[in-house]
Formats: sequence, structure tokens, C-alpha cells
Amino acid sequence: MTEQNRTTGFTLRPYQREAVDATLKHFRRSDDPAVIVLPTGAGKSLVIAELARLARRRILVLAHVRELVEQNHAKYATFGLEAGIFSAGLGRKEHLYQVTFASVQSLARNMDSFDDQFSLLIIDECHRVSDDDNSQYQQIIAALKQRNPGLKVLGLTATPYRLGYGWVYRYHYRGFVRASEARLFEHCIYELPLPYMIRQGYLTEPRLIDAAIAHYDFSALQPNANGHFNETELNSLIARHPRVTRAICEQIVELGQQRQGVMIFAATVRHAHEILGYLPEPESALIVGDTDSEQRDATIQAFKQRKIRYLVNVAVLTTGFDAPHVDMIAILRPTASVSLFQQIVGRGLRLSPGKQECLIIDYAGSGFDLFHPEVGSPKPDSDSEPVQVFCPGCGFANIFWGKTDSEGLVIEHYGRRCQGVLQLEGEKPQQCDYRFRFKECPHCGAENDIAARDCHQCGEAVVDPDDLLKRALQLKDALVIRCAGVSFSEREGRLRITYHDEQGEELHESFDLGHKGQRAVFNRLFGRRFNAGTEPRRFASADEVISHSQGFQPPDFVIARRHKQHWRVRERLFDYEGRYRKAHQL
Ligand SMILES: [Zn+2]
Ligand SMILES: [Zn+2]
Repeated sequence: MTEQNRTTGFTLRPYQREAVDATLKHFRRSDDPAVIVLPTGAGKSLVIAELARLARRRILVLAHVRELVEQNHAKYATFGLEAGIFSAGLGRKEHLYQVTFASVQSLARNMDSFDDQFSLLIIDECHRVSDDDNSQYQQIIAALKQRNPGLKVLGLTATPYRLGYGWVYRYHYRGFVRASEARLFEHCIYELPLPYMIRQGYLTEPRLIDAAIAHYDFSALQPNANGHFNETELNSLIARHPRVTRAICEQIVELGQQRQGVMIFAATVRHAHEILGYLPEPESALIVGDTDSEQRDATIQAFKQRKIRYLVNVAVLTTGFDAPHVDMIAILRPTASVSLFQQIVGRGLRLSPGKQECLIIDYAGSGFDLFHPEVGSPKPDSDSEPVQVFCPGCGFANIFWGKTDSEGLVIEHYGRRCQGVLQLEGEKPQQCDYRFRFKECPHCGAENDIAARDCHQCGEAVVDPDDLLKRALQLKDALVIRCAGVSFSEREGRLRITYHDEQGEELHESFDLGHKGQRAVFNRLFGRRFNAGTEPRRFASADEVISHSQGFQPPDFVIARRHKQHWRVRERLFDYEGRYRKAHQL
């Protein structure tokens, strides 16, 4: 349903109205900070303007760059309403209006200018807010809360996920958990995915073409935890392939001739200059981090007026840059997350007269599908893809990185814990405690995350598998094998397990599944992990195990101690993620 705003003649799109309604509904019953996720180009500033219009008390809208402060303010002004701007970069420090649009830097330095109470704080691009109490965002929030303990905080973002930090909120309104640890933003209360916006015609259709004549191979480079690549490494890799850059630029120019505006994303400043050198001179320009703001504004203006066709940039034109006519995007830099990839592509998806589609060419071969959901952890290797894994505990459909066979069946996944939420009427939401991969506490038997140091149930230290391995490797009477596979057979009514290492060495142990205690141990070790933890089951006989032998997960390491003439298995290390090399790894 579209609602006409009578005073202004402004029409909110249906989803913008829903986002506004979700916010009002949430803050009517809770003071918990909340997030709204809308893709780039969805018109966040209109949602902000409408919320500000509806509020009766004082409202503060924060953004991290002046372009966004200006944009949000301008949208509010189209309602025919007045608001203040507080931004040194814009030369305005107004603090007397009911609604104020402020830049984070200017406000953090001038908190004393605002001694009144605000009822609502809206943070645009809220994925930038860090947990660090000393950050400007946190200082502002703390100061405002001091004046009004009932302050409501709403964040808006297109990408609620940051590499090195993870999800910026904890609980999603559709019933799943994103972050296991506490977050400033407790809830996501509204989200629209990119594919929906494209299907509904609110955004231009992207056309990813695989016509690239040449590729960079960035796969040898490892990003740091924050998803950043080392500049020196990037430069030296690119410098080794001057022909690649030249060939790519020739293709960009060939395809770009039919296009209105072409954005090129370079990997480094040096790379950007090299690219610029291959582009037709009067039609091309460059913006890098230290381009001064006057020059930057002039270049962006010329690009918007289509005096420039090719605009090269290095990681600067991601937020607050708005040129709807862009209809071709060339990616010549590695991207470490789906979110970043979507952010880049999002630059070309705005609607614009005469624009039918936006051409996307990924010369870095990142392998991200634009419609991939964000998985929430770095892609573990190049052939992983998002896979759906149902929780055997609560039935929730998790999305993890994983691998599929030729028929699309999941053969492997990297999920650790179910992300489903169990919420009983009137109680706090709780994350489902089913774990696909886990470390068992030797003291109480509780299942813990594979990286846990202390047991979440009894608090005792959980043995570090690296310590176990290190100790065993120092012992003369111990044998450690890197387990590459496991096989089962029956011998005298007992189930015999053979652990195979890479070089043909073997260890054996056997279980009497007719014996209650031994059956329980076997099932805790193997049955519980059946089919990568997605189908835990209890096995009652050796025959049953042997006929299902395909679904068992081998441990990564097996440690045995010498006992007379034999080796006796002492430890089986499953789901290992430490510093020792596993079988099948280089
Ligand atoms: Zn579950
Ligand atoms: Zn325990």
C-alpha cells in the first residue's frame, strides 16, 4: 500500500513505509538499539526523513561523511520542513532545530553544544560503529544516554556485516542469530534483500558478464582479518602482469563506448594511475584517497554531467557517492566479502532515464554471485559457496560456506553452530545450541565451540588440541597420525575401526556396540557427527555402522600410546583448526 503524504505530496515506496512502521512498532515496546537493512539505492534517506517528520521530540541523524549529511538533510527538506545541519565540513553548526543532521567528527568534538535531551538517534551507515568505547560514535551515544537514559538508537545500513568484526547486530527478526556475542545493535527489525529490489524494478538489473579476456589472479594473496589486502603485495602482483592491465583496459574502452558512465575499481593508487594511462584522456579521471576535496567535487560533477565517461577510483567511492547514470562497473581489485562486492556493484544499480541494465565485469574473478547471501565469515577457499544446512535440532535453514557435488548436494560445510533462535513467549531470544562441529568438555561432556578455551557449562579449561599434539609428539611411546580416512569392519562381534594416515600407516581400535557404555562412547564420537553433524544418530550394531560407512567423519588426528606390543588409541581430534597441517592439506 502506498501512502500519500498530504503536506508534501511525497510518496513512500511500500517497503519504505514498512521500514518506518517496523521502527515505530519496535521502539513502542523496547529501548534496545535496532538496525534496518536496505540495499544501496533503496532510498534510506527517505525513511530517515519520514521518521524525523513523525517524531515530536528532538532527533539527531548522524553520518560519517558530509556528503551523506547533506543528502539526508536535503531529503528531509523536500518535505517542506526545516532542520539544522551540524558539520564543520559544510560550514554549519546549527543546534537549535528539533531535527539535526550532523557529521560524527564535528559532533564528537562539540558535544557541549547539545545539552538538551534527544529522544531518537539515527545512525546512517551504522556498520561503521565499532565496539570501542573510545570511538566517536560510542562517545556520542554515551553522552546522549547520560542526558536521556531512554534514548532510542536506530541504525541504517546496506551491509550489516564487517570483515574482522562480523555482523553488526545480534538477532534477526525472522528468527535467527547473527552474532553470538553482544552487539550495540541487539535487533535487526527490517531487511530487504537486493534481489527483491531488482525483481520489483526498484533497482536496475545487473548483468554480470564473463567476457573478461584477461584476469588478475589474486588468489595467492591473503587479506588480513579486516579484509584488507597488503598494498605492496598487490602492487608487486600487478606489476608482474603489465599486459593484463593493458588488455583489460582495452576491453573496458571497447565495451564502454556504448555506455553512459563507467566506474573502474582499482586495487591500489599505483594501479589506478596505470589504468588511467590506458584510458582515453579527455574522457577519463581518477579519484584516490588523498585527492583534495575541491578536485574531488569537480571530478564527480564532471562525471555526473557526463563530461567524463571513465571514472577510476581506489576504495573511495563507496558511500555517499551517487551517480545514477552509471551503467558499467569494472572490478580490478580483490574483494574479500560478499558485502563489499555488493557495495561496489550497488553503485551501478540506481534507476536512471534510458538505463536498461548495468554491465558488471569482475576482472579479479572473486567468484561472488551478486545474489549470494552474506555468510558472515571469510570465504574459506576459492571453491566454497554458500550452502543451506538444516539444523537437526530446530530445523532452521542455516547458510554456511560449503561445497556441493555435481548434483548440488552438500558434501561439506564450515558451519559450527546453528543460527536458529528459540524464543518462548515473553522471554529473551536464545540461540539454538545445536553444534555441527564441537569440542567436547573432558570434565562435564558439554559441547563447546571448537575455539573455546573454557567450557561454557562447567567453566573448566577445555584442552587445547595443539597442546595435546605437541605433548604427544615429544613422547617416545606415543604415535600421532594425520588421519586421512576411516574404515570399519567386524571382528568377533566387535566393531573394528581403522584410522588411515596419508602414507599407509594405520591405527586400530574396537568397540563392542552390544555394551551400553562402549556404544555411548562410539555414538558420542562418531554417531553424533554423522553426515557432517547434520544427521546425528545412534548406531546399535557393527552391521549398521558398516552399511552406513560413507557418512562418518574421520578425526583429523589420532593419538596412540604404546601398550606392550600394540598401539592403543587415546585421543581422536575432530574438527581440528590449529597450526598443525591436516591430511589433504599442503
Ligand atoms: Zn537449531
Ligand atoms: Zn565442562
